[in-house]
Amino acid sequence: MYQETRSWIQENWDESLTLRNWWALMNEARLSFPRWPTDWFGRNATESEQNEIARAFSDTGVIGAPTGLGVLMGAPVTMTFGTDEQKQRWLPSLATGVEGWCQLFSEPGAGSDLASVSCRADKDGDEWVINGQKVWTSGALHSSRGMLVARSDFDQPKHKGLTYFIIDLNQPGVEIRPIKQMNGAAHFNEVFFNDARVSDRDRISDINNGWAITTATLGFERSGLSEGAFGGVRVSAGTRAGLLDRTVGDLLKAVKASKSHPDEYGGLFSNIRSIASPEELSAPQAQKLISLYSNERIAELTRERITSSIKKGNSPGAEASTMKLHWTNGLRISRDLGMELLGADGMLVGDHLPLEGKVQHFFLSMPSASIAGGSDEVQRNIIGERTLGLPKDSQLDPSTPFKEIPKN
Ligand SMILES: Cc1cc2nc3c(=O)[nH]c(=O)nc-3n(C[C@H](O)[C@H](O)[C@H](O)COP(=O)(O)OP(=O)(O)OC[C@H]3O[C@@H](n4cnc5c(N)ncnc54)[C@H](O)[C@@H]3O)c2cc1C
Repeated sequence: MYQETRSWIQENWDESLTLRNWWALMNEARLSFPRWPTDWFGRNATESEQNEIARAFSDTGVIGAPTGLGVLMGAPVTMTFGTDEQKQRWLPSLATGVEGWCQLFSEPGAGSDLASVSCRADKDGDEWVINGQKVWTSGALHSSRGMLVARSDFDQPKHKGLTYFIIDLNQPGVEIRPIKQMNGAAHFNEVFFNDARVSDRDRISDINNGWAITTATLGFERSGLSEGAFGGVRVSAGTRAGLLDRTVGDLLKAVKASKSHPDEYGGLFSNIRSIASPEELSAPQAQKLISLYSNERIAELTRERITSSIKKGNSPGAEASTMKLHWTNGLRISRDLGMELLGADGMLVGDHLPLEGKVQHFFLSMPSASIAGGSDEVQRNIIGERTLGLPKDSQLDPSTPFKEIPKN
């Protein structure tokens, strides 16, 4: 697959193509999402075939497949739970990078305890009216649609009165406000819904069955988080990112010239190896590098297991939580080793530093990784309950109607 992909890139890469055309070509050749099913833009590839394709894109340094939450979670959710009509309507624009999606789950009063969401959805003819607030919504400013979980029935217990929609963000009832982070970026947002509208055609699964789809979405998120790029240079997908009609040559130049660090978590393992040669590593540092390697190998094998289970029609289970923990574990080791190798330079910030300050930037970004996609503590609870049979976390009687649950 590696040689075949390299030859394809050689024949098709042309710096004067627009990003839109490049992604369309990649999609036609089924090189963007090789593990997706053959009916839907994929080639049912194995993990190792996918890795070979990714390596060919990385080695040639060209732009890789569209990235983002739409392809990570929105596409598998649509493939698993969507109607044929929804698949036909949404999957082509996700596969070709024309649309970016975001995840509208967390709220000021609902994070780890996500089933407490109180953003409301009221049915009005063939539409639903949405009112409420979401927070920590990554990439909302660049997204055309969002995966929204909202409360459709306040009389039902909290897990039972939720409904799942794909909502169009480009409408007057939606206001998106960026949140500035300590690493200088602003990839999070607050999203306010004020009589926003979503068609009943854009509901996924049954009314009040949103919790099942929400947990499956989180499973796709956790099992995919450590997947890394599909290889090649990463560029934001979606019309709202404003890059689709620029040429790929121009975009590559812009990425190379950029001093910012758009990818807060990626590529550190290879970067770390470029800070110090193997002979310079002390024995404890070598130990860390080796544990990073074994963490990655275990993650790869677990991901292979999850992928084959999904292909058999199952939703990711507690294994997805172990994947999330592998991911944060690997990031933590990379952060510590990176800072250790930099020594006193690790305290400085600036483009003149080794790797243009990437490691320091990563150090400031890393704390969010153990919270994103459900905190590490919550993943351990899931593994404890579902795999080890440990007692459940203390909770209210699960049959209590949501409207009777005390709130802050
Ligand atoms: C980088 C990043 C990206 C994100 N992107 C999105 C996004 O796109 N869309 C979206 O909807 N949300 C997003 N989030 C939000 C994320 O899902 C929540 O932050 C997360 O679920 C935790 O919720 P919280 O912040 O409300 O913390 P809380 O739930 O209030 O938790 C606070 C602390 O208490 C601990 N804790 C809570 N409950 C338990 C328990 N039962 N047992 C043990 N410990 C517990 C937690 O581990 C945590 O340390 C993102 C977060 C980050 C950091």
